[in-house]
Amino acid sequence: MALVNEHFLQLPGSYLFSDIARRVRMFEEQHPDIPLIRMGIGDVTLPLPKAVVGAMHLAVDEMSRKASFRGYGPEQGYSFLVETIIENDYRPLGVSLDPDEVFVSDGSKSDTGNIGDILGKDNIVAVTDPVYPVYIDTNVMAGRAGVLTESGIWSNIRYLPCTAENGFIPELPSEPVDIIYLCFPNNPTGTTLTRAELRKWVNFAIDTKALILFDAAYEAYITERDVPHSIYEIRGAKQVAIEFRSFSKTAGFTGTRCAYTVVPKAVCAYTNAGDKVMLNALWNRRQTTKFNGVSYVVQRAAQAVYSEEGIRQVQKMIAYYMQNALLIRKSLLEAGFEVFGGVNAPYIWVRAPKGLTSWKFFDMLLNEAHVVGTPGVGFGPSGEGYLRLTAFGDKKLTQEAMSRITAWKLSSLKSNNP
Ligand code: PLP
Repeated sequence: MALVNEHFLQLPGSYLFSDIARRVRMFEEQHPDIPLIRMGIGDVTLPLPKAVVGAMHLAVDEMSRKASFRGYGPEQGYSFLVETIIENDYRPLGVSLDPDEVFVSDGSKSDTGNIGDILGKDNIVAVTDPVYPVYIDTNVMAGRAGVLTESGIWSNIRYLPCTAENGFIPELPSEPVDIIYLCFPNNPTGTTLTRAELRKWVNFAIDTKALILFDAAYEAYITERDVPHSIYEIRGAKQVAIEFRSFSKTAGFTGTRCAYTVVPKAVCAYTNAGDKVMLNALWNRRQTTKFNGVSYVVQRAAQAVYSEEGIRQVQKMIAYYMQNALLIRKSLLEAGFEVFGGVNAPYIWVRAPKGLTSWKFFDMLLNEAHVVGTPGVGFGPSGEGYLRLTAFGDKKLTQEAMSRITAWKLSSLKSNNP
């Protein structure tokens, strides 16, 4: 008799985006003449940079000729890409990496999920709350999360609240934890940690032999000087941190798929007997067994992100989204909302007015301002009372959405509603 992994049965349905879709569908059925503006889903909208497309065309041509055709590549990624990554993303930060510390992959979603394969089941996991749901769900699948309690939290997961009250800076855990997921710039709050704040986490991990899983998927959006781009800018981090980076939001690769994970040779975890084990060797073993590499064409595309033209085009793309972010922040602040994020990230985290719940605020924006956001509570209990807007949309539509929300706020002030 085949048995299932019963941990999967513990997972509640993923209601957030299907619930949003259902409410949006209902609105559209009732009001087919009112166009909605969607600012909910965290997906890019601009096409791939020209330099990237050019490199893909060339690579496809290479694949069409016997002399330059390629079959399986190295599971860890072609050296032309790995070396370009080290040279461009790390050397300028003063971080030196060996090529075998960088693993090219098809996405940070898979890597942040799959990394659990090489970690013990009995680890106590800490996440910041609100959180990118993949960190929680993959730990549920692995049997590390315990049981789902009535308050919607998992009994074995330690939640580190990030709210306006603590400036979205998680406090160090008061009880022992073994694995800590940190995502900065953060999805969904759009907030960041300074170097000094991140240093506290690295020191904590060194002192307690914990492992930090640092998701830097939004690193390219950092604008402020004191915000670290990589956790390895902090001394000692190579002993305790794995870093995830992605071309998805950096260069419009959400549909093209390429990312990478840095597993330094110094980073270790322990056996029950207390023996140190190099995680680099385990991840290499995991990847070479379960993953067959990213396609040659896509790796050439990723390499082109770092060409002179590519850098210019990517910067322009990010500037476009960040102008949207600035506009959203400015418009909402002027309209009297409490607004966070959007300075070093393409996400804006808005506090629902007058104590409304996330879903109530979502419904009012949908039905009265005709703008779709994402209810903050969908990312965890500390997201209650907030809503996430993304800056990945079209500029004109973003402007129109801000006019609608501002008008809605003014009219609700007059009617003394929210
Ligand atoms: N990490 C975070 C925090 C994200 O928000 C996302 C995508 O939304 C990902 C990882 C996934 O990245 P990828 O497209 O590389 O799988």
